[in-house]
Amino acid sequence: MSIIYWEKEIETLPRAELGALQLKRLQQLVARVYKTVKPYRYKMDEAGVRPEDIKTLKDLSKLPFTVKDDLRDNYPFGLFTVPLEEIVRVHASSGTTGKPTVVGYTQKDIETWSGVMARALCCAGATRGDMVHNAYGYGLFTGGLGAHYGIERLGATVIPVSGGNSKRQINLMRDFGSTVLLSTPSYALNLAEAMDAMNIDPGSLSLKVGIFGAEPWSENMREEVERKLNLKATDIYGLSEVMGPGVAQECLHTDRGMHIFEDHFLPEIVDPETGEVLPPGEKGELVFTTLTKEAFPIIRYRTKDISRLVYDTCACGRTLVRMEKVTGRTDDMLIIRGVNVFPSQVEHVLMGVEGVEPHYQIVVERQGNLDTMQVQVEVSEGIFSDEIRKLENLSGQIRKEIKDLLGVTCVVKLVEPKTLYRSEGKAQRVIDNRKI
Ligand SMILES: [Zn+2]
Repeated sequence: MSIIYWEKEIETLPRAELGALQLKRLQQLVARVYKTVKPYRYKMDEAGVRPEDIKTLKDLSKLPFTVKDDLRDNYPFGLFTVPLEEIVRVHASSGTTGKPTVVGYTQKDIETWSGVMARALCCAGATRGDMVHNAYGYGLFTGGLGAHYGIERLGATVIPVSGGNSKRQINLMRDFGSTVLLSTPSYALNLAEAMDAMNIDPGSLSLKVGIFGAEPWSENMREEVERKLNLKATDIYGLSEVMGPGVAQECLHTDRGMHIFEDHFLPEIVDPETGEVLPPGEKGELVFTTLTKEAFPIIRYRTKDISRLVYDTCACGRTLVRMEKVTGRTDDMLIIRGVNVFPSQVEHVLMGVEGVEPHYQIVVERQGNLDTMQVQVEVSEGIFSDEIRKLENLSGQIRKEIKDLLGVTCVVKLVEPKTLYRSEGKAQRVIDNRKI
């Protein structure tokens, strides 16, 4: 398999040279942000750190963190470093849990973003000849437009279909001969289900690779998507506060993590409790500093995503560090009777059980002082019409496997196929009814 790079020189730069480039960019960034953005200056003064204190990359840890609340507190444009007339686009979060967070881009930022997104597409083997079906939501969310500009930059053909109306999506995929699919992994499974209902064999389509992201998903879910859509499923990472999609992407030559485009995004792993930087290879919370963004640079942003950095040399030749698949978020981590539970761990168990469909929901309640976890999961048609005893065996098996892996006893409720809510974007896996 020949390897496709977008910017080979930078993607394969020896690590010492990469480090020198990162340091130079970091120093410039910190000096500029200190001068132009009051909230950053206040925080740095408070921490007793000045731009000239950044002498090595290790000095990054002297700088204060930035968290989502900093964005809310400076709503809407308080953290921008350039006048508004230089901003060519804004994106914003949905703001379902308070004020939305707003990010802005200059013309050059849009170019940088399109470039890293084009790199991501190349990592997944996409070329100018591809027909790219972009089912990420278009609008304030960065997914749709971020991917869109990268696909155009690559020179491939983009189908800007956005989310929703699965039947139409599948018709377009078939008629246009889509070769690359971009969506959330949960929506990919919804598409597979819709294909099944339309009696369309995914093998009859031209899909070869999927680029899935915007929510944590397990390895077992990956296998499920690959089997049901007859394609190679790759993982992409990004978040609007840092840029949008295209911060990191899995290549076709590893099954261990996504290459971070480190010349633009500088990663750290910290202890989620103490904020201490952890040694290479340890698992913890991902923190990002943008090195080249103009309008909305961000310093040491706490992503709340749990991952690990892998510094092995990758078979693809890229020297860029890889981040392991995000296994959970510090804020969707459930604490059930003192045990840390990530929905992706439950998913991992479910996807490994025969007869279970990849649609599930976790409902947490508090009864008296005791937390209870119920896992609702759809079973396949054949199983559901089976005898009660077989259903009981199946739920017993799932309960045991969850107990073995997570150490938590739960109630398993098997439900009929297609009865749980289907999301067109990020799936809602947890309903937490506890009033804490
Ligand atoms: Zn690689």
